[in-house]
Order: sequence, then structure tokens, then C-alpha cells
Amino acid sequence: RTTARAGDLLDVDRALGDEERLIAETVRRFVGEHVLPEIEGWYERGVFPRELVPELGRLGVLGMHLTGHGCAGASAVGYGVACRELEAADSGLRSFVSVQGSLAMFPIWRYGSEEQKRRWLPGMAAGELVGCFGLTEPDSGSDPASMRTSARRDGRDWVLNGRKMWITNGGLADVAVVWARTDDGVRGFLVPRGTPGFTTRDIHRKMSMRASVTSELVLDDVRLPEDAVLPGVVGMRGPLSCLDEARFGIVWGVVGAARTCFETALSYARTREQFGRPIAGFQLTQQKLVDMAVELNKAALLAHHLGQLKDAGALTPEQISFGKLNNVREALRIARTARTVLGANGISSEYPVMRHANNLESVLTYEGTNEVHTLVLGHALTGLRAFQ
Ligand code: FAD
Repeated sequence: RTTARAGDLLDVDRALGDEERLIAETVRRFVGEHVLPEIEGWYERGVFPRELVPELGRLGVLGMHLTGHGCAGASAVGYGVACRELEAADSGLRSFVSVQGSLAMFPIWRYGSEEQKRRWLPGMAAGELVGCFGLTEPDSGSDPASMRTSARRDGRDWVLNGRKMWITNGGLADVAVVWARTDDGVRGFLVPRGTPGFTTRDIHRKMSMRASVTSELVLDDVRLPEDAVLPGVVGMRGPLSCLDEARFGIVWGVVGAARTCFETALSYARTREQFGRPIAGFQLTQQKLVDMAVELNKAALLAHHLGQLKDAGALTPEQISFGKLNNVREALRIARTARTVLGANGISSEYPVMRHANNLESVLTYEGTNEVHTLVLGHALTGLRAFQ
């Protein structure tokens, strides 16, 4: 049994259709050629490879689960395996694709006017235009309904004021989907780069997601025309529905990160010798490897099950919380355990394990923290809301 097969001990991928299998293989090959040889350097220098964006467009993964306007129209499982293979390389790469497809293109596709779709979606699918999603603010994170960013009418125009924080792709984005409070409730606005009063500042000194751009958005009397608002949704339902799309990608993506950590630990344990034999021969190491493999395969099964529910149009937000809670938590545990198997080498960037572990700390927090998803499930089970 090869280490690659050991990562899929239950043969979960047997359930993939031909097209989904092709997507997985194509993305895996792309990542092997374009990302793996460079990722360590990008991570250490703290840069996102902007030049890769048109390549991702050609690969067909940007907004791939959407239909029309240049999008690939893949199944949910197809989108999932793409996220998995991207995050097997680095969570920052999957974050770029999640934000572009699920958080920026999805709201335009779902709630935008025909004109807005025509203007933005084909270029975003091709990787010629980048989008970002501004919901979180300096004082509004887990409780996004407490946002302060506002949009008021001035004649036919809208005028936006506020700040958004921790925004993936913010400094790269040609268009920001900004959620703001209006007299009618929260609404989404398309803010093109270069609009007077709209500036971005990249956040540095990150110990996690270093190969990803994370920025602050500043909106200072930003005047937008009437048609900058997304006409199709009012209220928190808008941003929350986008987050459900992106969380689905995370449920799959982290399986890739965990698989890389597990495979690295397994192959290391087979060759590293102490006390005259491979450390894989020690029972305590075997227990770690088995626990990692069991959780990895369970996470893969869960991702697949949720993918099938999504393709059947039956996936609920609580089930997505279930997947995000379990799979991120277990991926992080796998990464940390893999780190111990590698001993001192585990802290070196020569191996991918600590990079994944550090990235997964962000994944544990963004798109709803572990605690918030626990409370969502607590509410689903008890009918009692612990967080409002
Ligand atoms: P807080 O909400 O202040 O939470 C702090 C701690 O308190 C957490 O452990 C939390 O679980 C806990 N807590 C809060 N409320 C409760 C409660 N009721 N019960 C129990 N515990 C609670 N946001 C965007 O809008 N767009 C993006 O593109 C984006 N990208 C990101 C990229 C990165 C790398 C990171 C790190 C964050 C990103 N975020 C983005 C922001 C992210 O969504 C928020 O960080 C997240 O929602 C948590 O908010 P917070 O950091 O303000 O933490």
C-alpha cells in the first residue's frame, strides 16, 4: 500500500464520478506543477502568487460550482474535490478560490442584476478580475449583525462609511462585495477598486495564512451609483448564505491539508530510525498514525456525504456547521500530531506540516469560529439559542 493510498484507507474516492475524479486529478497535477515547488518560499516571504490567478481561471476552478457567465457548472462534489486538492498544497490557495467563487462571485450570481452579472462574472471566472467579501469589522466578528458600516441614500446615490477587517484578497480585489447597514436592513454593495474614498491596507505580521493577502478596507464617504447595490437580498440572510457556500468548500479543503500532514508523518515515520529501528515500528507512533488515519478518513466521508446532500439540494446550514466544526478541528489535531511525529524536523519549513498547522489556526476562526458552530449545533439540538 502506497502512502498516497493510505490517505484514503476507506477508498472514499471510489464514490466519485468520472468528472469529479478528473477534476481531482487535474487540480492535483496543477498544484504539483505550479504551487508545490514554490509554496515554501511564498510562505516565508509572506506573498500570494498573484500571477497564478489567470492560471486558476484557465483551470476552471473560479466560481466552478456556478452556472452561466463563464462558470464551469460543476457539481458540489466536484467543487469539493477541487478545494481538497488546492488545500492539500496550502490553505491560502484554497482561501483565494473560496473567496473568489463563493464569497464574491456567488452573491453577484445569486443576488445581482443581469447587468452586474455581465459586468463582473466572466472576468472573475477567467481570473482577470479578483473579488473580496467584506463582512467582518474591527468591532464586529462572530456577531456580524452588530456591524457599523453604513450606506445612506443621497439623492439617487449611495454613500458608504465604515471599516472592514481581516478581508481575504482585499488588497488585490478589483471589486469588493461590502455588506452595510441601510434603513431597510443589511445590503450588499459592489465597490470597484479605485472608487474615491475606498482604500485598502494589507495586514502584515501574520503567523498563519502567510501566502494569502488579508487586508483592511476603509470606506470614507464612498459615493456609489444606485445600481451598485445587489438588488436580490436584504438582511443578514445575504451574507450568511454566502458563508454557507464557502464553509462547504472548507469542509473539503481541510481534508486536503490533513492528508498532506498525515502522509508526511507516515513516510517520515517509516524512514526515521531511533533505537535501531524505524519510529513507525513503535506502538505509540502507530497509535498516532492510526488515530490520524481514522479521523482523516471520517472527515473525507463526511465531506463526501455533505457534497451529496448539496447536490441533492438538501444540505442545511446546521449540517454545514457540523462539517466545518468536525473537519477543521480534526484537521488541526492531525497537523499537530503529525508535527510531533517529525520531532524537530516538524518545526522546519522543509516539511509542510507546521505551515498547514499554522494555516488551520485561521481556518478554525474564520467563516464562523469553532465555538460559534458548536452553538449553532447546540441550538439545533436543544431549540435554545445560546448566542443571541
Ligand atoms: P470574536 O468574534 O471577537 O471572537 C473571539 C473569541 O470569542 C472566539 O474564540 C469566539 O469563538 C469567541 N466567541 C465570540 N462570541 C461567542 C459566544 N457567543 N459564545 C462563545 N464564544 C464566543 N472576514 C470577512 O468578512 N471576510 C474575509 O475574507 C475574511 N478573511 C479572513 C482571513 C483570515 C486569515 C482571518 C484570520 C479572518 C478572516 N475574516 C474574514 C474574519 C473572520 O471571519 C473573523 O475573524 C471571525 O468571524 C471571528 O471574529 P473575530 O476575529 O472578531 O473574533
